[in-house]
Amino acid sequence: MIIKNSLDEMKKREVSLKVIKSIIATSGRNSLYDLTGLSGGFLAKQEELDILETYIGPAIFEEKLQVLGCEHLGGEKVFAVNRTSSGILATILAIVKEDSYVVHFLPEFPAHPSIPRSCGIVGANYLEFDDIGEFIANFPKYARNVSLLVITGSTMDHKILMEEDFKTAINLAKNENIPVFVDDASGARLRTAIFSQKRATDLGADLVVTSTDKLMMGPRGGLMAGKKDLIDEIKTKAHQFGLEAQPPSVLAMVKGLEEYNEDDLKKSIVKKDELMDLLANDFNSFEKTPTGIMVSEDNLKNEIIFSLKKSDSNFNETNLDKFSNKDFCFLWAMLLLKEEHIVTIPAVSMPGASATVRFDLAANDADRIEVNNLCDKIKNSFNNLLNVIVDEKIAKKILYKNNI
Ligand SMILES: *Cc1c(COP(=O)(O)O)cnc(C)c1O
Repeated sequence: MIIKNSLDEMKKREVSLKVIKSIIATSGRNSLYDLTGLSGGFLAKQEELDILETYIGPAIFEEKLQVLGCEHLGGEKVFAVNRTSSGILATILAIVKEDSYVVHFLPEFPAHPSIPRSCGIVGANYLEFDDIGEFIANFPKYARNVSLLVITGSTMDHKILMEEDFKTAINLAKNENIPVFVDDASGARLRTAIFSQKRATDLGADLVVTSTDKLMMGPRGGLMAGKKDLIDEIKTKAHQFGLEAQPPSVLAMVKGLEEYNEDDLKKSIVKKDELMDLLANDFNSFEKTPTGIMVSEDNLKNEIIFSLKKSDSNFNETNLDKFSNKDFCFLWAMLLLKEEHIVTIPAVSMPGASATVRFDLAANDADRIEVNNLCDKIKNSFNNLLNVIVDEKIAKKILYKNNI
């Protein structure tokens, strides 16, 4: 294993950011293709930046955010937080009691790490289910001691919860008067735009949080919405610990919401189908996501072994024991960045995030690259990955040195 812990992940991220900087310095921003789908952005105008003072900015932009945020997420009141993770922490700090249970229902494991970590901080018990049958069977056993039901609408890998399961889970909690909080980081847009599902609050959730840089042109940040009394409690708690979004982020959220158009997401569907068809000639392990394609950790390992065995029938799998499945993802992402100038999440992610290598065709930069060209870049970098993993030293250099 090369990347062993959160500290190693931080170092890898720092290297990636240096690489991005030097690519932009030598070849310009347009030589880089950010296909993370977390493009972020700061669409503010000069006159808006001029009024970004500590107390003046919020007076202007928070009111706009109330209107646009309620349109986007529904609910009675919205509240902007520093990140989705901050919204999750603030909610759990405000609502969840020590020794009580937090039950999390999601379409597929793993859960975002901020949910179990936040439960750990308040001393709550955390249970998670990704099978509706098991959830229905187990929920009543704990219901009396459950202080919060968390539902993830779309996972980090963009696996979407079916609307029927959503309703079933919400109704079970409602019958017991348990508050329902939806982690809709990407789901608030993916579920509604691509799958025509209802907003979480319209499905009966009391609270929802979304990430303002996922599939929209906002800043890295979180936007919460829901019942006014609950939002007020969470807001109070968030201010005590500095978890709220600062005025520049609030302004950028307003601009991102103004710019958001779900038709832009729908356009990615045709492109992703084309790319999937092209790649199917050479690969077995790509899967479609709502707006792109991806290779999971386990599938990448299988693809690597399959390719190495194809070129050398005596290839011994134990040669790869130095690497974890995540290492392969991090290495491929780093090669994609250094050699093909394509940014994917494993290169730049925060510790604990999913290592799945995903190419999001709803990303802004996807408009600038032809599907054929992207296919070639993916193939080249994969072939290079096969060369790199024969030598641990070279692999370490790829991950920890900011040479391009
Ligand atoms: C991205 C994501 C988060 C966390 O967002 P941050 O901005 O990194 O805090 C939480 N949950 C899910 C499902 C996500 O996809």
